[in-house]
Amino acid sequence: MPVLRQIALLGHPVLRTPAEPVAFPLSDEIRALVDDMLATMREADGVGIAAPQVYQSLAIFIVAPRPNPRYPDAVEEPPIVVINPEMIERSAEMERGWEGCLSIPGIRAEVPRHRRIVASYQDVQGARIVREFEGFPARIFQHEDDHLHSLVFLDRLESPRDVVAEREYQKRLARG
Ligand SMILES: [Zn+2]
Repeated sequence: MPVLRQIALLGHPVLRTPAEPVAFPLSDEIRALVDDMLATMREADGVGIAAPQVYQSLAIFIVAPRPNPRYPDAVEEPPIVVINPEMIERSAEMERGWEGCLSIPGIRAEVPRHRRIVASYQDVQGARIVREFEGFPARIFQHEDDHLHSLVFLDRLESPRDVVAEREYQKRLARG
């Protein structure tokens, strides 16, 4: 049974430590970690989670866009487990969009991201996959990939004025 893990909050050094590559075949501990990350992300209404956010400095994250109370307009796609990723292409075109982070509760910000990326990564079996992401899934991918490189979305802001309180963000959503 998966276990809910505690989420590291901004200020903890694990979020500012580059993640280590993962060796294959995956150990039982790492398989359990992946299951626990999925459960922890769902419980927190996240659309993605990276291993450093559960205090494991490993190059693993999950991309799982789906509508939930934190992201009511998200597209729904089956969760993707991404291990040892590498970004191969980034579109020149950037797009601003709202992001939050389970490690930075209470705020949201409009963050510029590449609209389209091509990434290479390994799945849980160790197979190397090359895949294109666009729009919101591409945004999640870039946000989670940043966690592996000791970055958070605040490091990507165009201006500190692009940060709003979660409660004000929810009001904006309600107004539509
Ligand atoms: Zn995050």
